[in-house]
Amino acid sequence: MIVIISNKTPEERIQEIIHYIEKHDVSVHVSRGVDRTVVGIIGKADPKLTEQLRQLSGVEQVVKISKSYKLASRDFHPDNTVIKLGDVEIGGDQLVIMGGPCAVETSKQIDEIAAIVKASGAQVLRGGAFKPRTGPYSFQGIGVEGLEMMAEAGRKHGLLTVTEVMTPEYVDVCAEYADILQVGTRNMQNFDLLRKLGTIQKPVLLKRGFSATYDEFLNAAEYILAGGNPNVMLCERGIRTFEPYTRNTLDLAAIPALQSLSHLPVIADPSHGTGRRELVEPMSKASVAAGANGLIVEMHTDPDNSMTGDGVQSLFPEQFARLMLDLEKLAPLCGKTFNTHKSFVTV
Ligand code: PEP
Ligand code: MN
Repeated sequence: MIVIISNKTPEERIQEIIHYIEKHDVSVHVSRGVDRTVVGIIGKADPKLTEQLRQLSGVEQVVKISKSYKLASRDFHPDNTVIKLGDVEIGGDQLVIMGGPCAVETSKQIDEIAAIVKASGAQVLRGGAFKPRTGPYSFQGIGVEGLEMMAEAGRKHGLLTVTEVMTPEYVDVCAEYADILQVGTRNMQNFDLLRKLGTIQKPVLLKRGFSATYDEFLNAAEYILAGGNPNVMLCERGIRTFEPYTRNTLDLAAIPALQSLSHLPVIADPSHGTGRRELVEPMSKASVAAGANGLIVEMHTDPDNSMTGDGVQSLFPEQFARLMLDLEKLAPLCGKTFNTHKSFVTV
């Protein structure tokens, strides 16, 4: 249930209403907008409470929320969540681009790629040190050493970093090195991991499970929010359909749909969403046109020899830089601003 109070109501009265609700053994979440204050109530409220609240002076409306997720819903939090990391703002006006290899391989590799990511105008370096592989004999990532290499490359080139964390035990060490922690598609419903991520404040990029509905996806986000970490961004990375030509089907409609159901930023991953290099550029643009707050794109200096199978979906550096030039033109048409600090020269 949410209680809507107009901001014309004196602050003292708003506080009285909040205290009144708190006395009823429920947990309360207050969201302040420009015109209205929304008080979300979580927990089993006495059925009489709804009627009592409707009678209170200053209360504009009391609305029952039937959705199973609350904190992730736009009903509870009408304004967009904007995650601020230095001068990068995810979920606001900026189009935020995360680029880099599927996996961190060597310090030379991540350093070279970081230089290109930076010169192309992207803000965040991506790279996995712990890789969730379908088969146990495939390359599993280089672990903590990779985190160190990526943090060093991020520092040197002035980039934020995002990396995947797979287990609750590794959350603290990943949080020590990276600016954003990624939860992979296979772990979207790893509830112990989600709970642990709720106990820190580091931003989390939560990828949609490849068979998850929007409802399941938002409930996964709810685990992190309910634990006390409000810094969650959603990532549409493609779902499994009957079509084998593409690795996954990038669900473009998920972008505006999730933005209407939730206040959390939505990032698109056209690399895993297609699995084919030649489709990454058009689907990146389509994602931005659909309203994505940002993109996460795989790029490699030597994709044919990449240590994961994701070389086939990784852009070459020139392709990445050219995409960034196009996105700079597209962003303003889609109501976004674009980082113009570029120095990569394309031929
Ligand atoms: C990745 O980002 O490299 C990755 C493994 O992503 P996903 O979990 O979406 O497959
Ligand atoms: Mn990958």
